[in-house]
Amino acid sequence: MLSATWRSRVGALPRSAPTSRLVPRTCINATGKLVVPGLLDIHTHYARESAGPALGLSGGVTGWIDAGSAGADQLDQMAAVVRASPQPGRLLINIGRSGILPDGDTMDLRLADVDAATAAVARHRDVVVGVKARLTRGVAADDGEVLRRAQEVATGFNLPVMIHMGQTTSPLPSLLAQLKPGDIVTHMLAPPPNSIVDDAGQVLPEVLAARRRGVWFDVANGRVDHLRWDTFDRIIQSGFWPDSVSTDGSTTEPGRRERHRLPQRAVEVSELSA
Ligand SMILES: [Zn+2]
Repeated sequence: MLSATWRSRVGALPRSAPTSRLVPRTCINATGKLVVPGLLDIHTHYARESAGPALGLSGGVTGWIDAGSAGADQLDQMAAVVRASPQPGRLLINIGRSGILPDGDTMDLRLADVDAATAAVARHRDVVVGVKARLTRGVAADDGEVLRRAQEVATGFNLPVMIHMGQTTSPLPSLLAQLKPGDIVTHMLAPPPNSIVDDAGQVLPEVLAARRRGVWFDVANGRVDHLRWDTFDRIIQSGFWPDSVSTDGSTTEPGRRERHRLPQRAVEVSELSA
């Protein structure tokens, strides 16, 4: 494919283009490339530092959401990164007030502080677009209660919740029961326990019901433990395609940058699914 830009427009150059009238400003040989107007990455951690948004932009990400790096205690700093970003960015606030912690965001249930999160969202309502609840065993002491509190904050502002599924203590259906239309399940390819398919490779009926009522399912292929190929194959063979492909991208973990390029992730998922 040969593409050219006329002012801000991108288009393929016809074989018999009347070159006397069409004089492109830029001509790019895009053979084998994706030509897209820009990509949205709905699960990143680009707000952790000022270099994050630029990393996304270098990979074609023209809009990004940081999915819960910050809780109430760091929201001011991360909102500043959003406001300084060269492309539009937004935040999901972590219901754990200290954000992502090595020992678990809400292993101490007191960290799931509804009042603190509510006050922080009110301060930054222009950049906060939802609430994140990381529910993995070892991250949340009581996943059902943490999700309940996340919903309490979110519904006060008419915002969605994103849950981080997989390896949860509670069965997935009981968590899905707490999700409303517009909420998002991220890491949808997570392996058992509590993946979206049963041992026979069938998508759980509660997962299908959640999709029917408007819950979104997102890939977020950022870490090996969020994806296992046998689980991936079962899910794709079942025909349950993702609603979105995101990267879980971050600048803060060495060696992960290249694996977080959104165009590559999107192409890989589509090719592996073919
Ligand atoms: Zn993440």
